[in-house]
Amino acid sequence: MSAPQIRVFNTMLQTKVPFEPITPGKVGVYVCGPTVYSYVHIGNARTFTAFDTIVRYLRYRGFEVRYVRNYTDVDDKIIRAAKETGEDPIALAARFVGEFEADMKALRLLPPDVSPKVSETIPEIIEIIEKLVSRGAAYESKGDVYFEVRKYPDYLKLSKRKVDDLLSGAGDREIINEDQKRDPLDFALWKAAKPGEPSWPSPWGAGRPGWHIECSAMSRKYLGETFDLHGGGLDLIFPHHENEIAQSEAASGKTLCNCWMHAGFLDLEGAKMSKSLGNVVRLRDALQRVDAEGLRYFFLSTHYRQQLAFSDKSLADAEARMEYFYETLKKVDERIVGKDFGTGPLHGDPQRFLAEFDDAMSDDFNFTGALGVLSGLFGELNLLTDKPPVKDKPMVGRTLVALREVVRNIASALGLFETDASVWLLGRRDRQVVARGIDPKHVEAQIQARNDARAAKNFAESDRLRAELKTSGVEIMDSPGGTTWKVAAPPAS
Ligand SMILES: [Zn+2]
Repeated sequence: MSAPQIRVFNTMLQTKVPFEPITPGKVGVYVCGPTVYSYVHIGNARTFTAFDTIVRYLRYRGFEVRYVRNYTDVDDKIIRAAKETGEDPIALAARFVGEFEADMKALRLLPPDVSPKVSETIPEIIEIIEKLVSRGAAYESKGDVYFEVRKYPDYLKLSKRKVDDLLSGAGDREIINEDQKRDPLDFALWKAAKPGEPSWPSPWGAGRPGWHIECSAMSRKYLGETFDLHGGGLDLIFPHHENEIAQSEAASGKTLCNCWMHAGFLDLEGAKMSKSLGNVVRLRDALQRVDAEGLRYFFLSTHYRQQLAFSDKSLADAEARMEYFYETLKKVDERIVGKDFGTGPLHGDPQRFLAEFDDAMSDDFNFTGALGVLSGLFGELNLLTDKPPVKDKPMVGRTLVALREVVRNIASALGLFETDASVWLLGRRDRQVVARGIDPKHVEAQIQARNDARAAKNFAESDRLRAELKTSGVEIMDSPGGTTWKVAAPPAS
């Protein structure tokens, strides 16, 4: 049984196309990374999680992936933020690179294979600008260098806009330095140095790169002139990705990238979450309220191209779902770990879940469909542990072992279930205890009192204590290993 052909929605073609890497078996992926002037918010975290999952799945399918995600560490926003704090802009950016990496680690995203920074790519940026100038696609003006938009006939082929509409609808972008440009639409590749700003020597005098050129230089450096997949948030299609295409293709005469992928927005109270709108939830604040895998499950609960609505309830629901999964895994592992069920037939076909998973993920990385397969799989695990439809116990055990292996495979491709079940469940309990104002020491004392009452055969008292704990939101479970407890789901309001 071979896995189905992967199909990807290509923004350029506005349709799903079969994914065929340039070099069979190898994939080059470039994702536009953060501008590091403050903490990452969960809207960006959603985009990076989507591409993290896509990269994981490509690797799961056996592709050798080179994943590049850049840092914009030289930029107007960084310079502005540094003026406010009185810091050196490069130092401020370096500090937020550190914070970003700590946040990505907390979210347990795979580090990209290469994370280039603008400040470390200046020679390559100058090289590509020189090429554009020598080809007549760009021109120098008072120490700035501009890309001449009207000389590039394919401009706006990704966003399907029209050049003349941009002028009439100037609200889309700020028209600046008009006196230096041949056309108001031309955009800066290089900006002449201003006092107090970081700058580097160049053939046009001291200055710094414009925003867009870095991605053209970095993708060329690490993935070549034409590569497989280019990703980013929807808001980058115009102008950023249009400008990347114009710069790269005018310089090389080749297609920049074979497939463009864009992740949808995260909405907060009906508006797109963005730093410029001010309605942001920082990733690190969200991770105080929900565990990394709960947040990841929430991100994956909607197709990556669709809008995802953020709310406290959606986070709580996602974490409750993860609790169900981990409770199931704990129960199954207690049943199978260290046991030998011999060889023989299985109940049903556990492998069918892997096939269904591949069907979902091959269809433009349908995360929602993949989570649906997980639901079916965990339903089967619960059925076999709680009410097995067959009497043959070794057969049930063998089937549980096979299904557990299927979970492991799917988990590696989705980035879920990377924690030991008991550890995850205790972490969940710790967060709930804080949120619900429960004192764990008091709970432990009451459980001890109940055990004492049971030992003294005072069952009226032990029942009373159990009921009292239940009223305070604590559910206790007796097992041969002793009594454990968890925080019960809050009553439906
Ligand atoms: Zn970019």
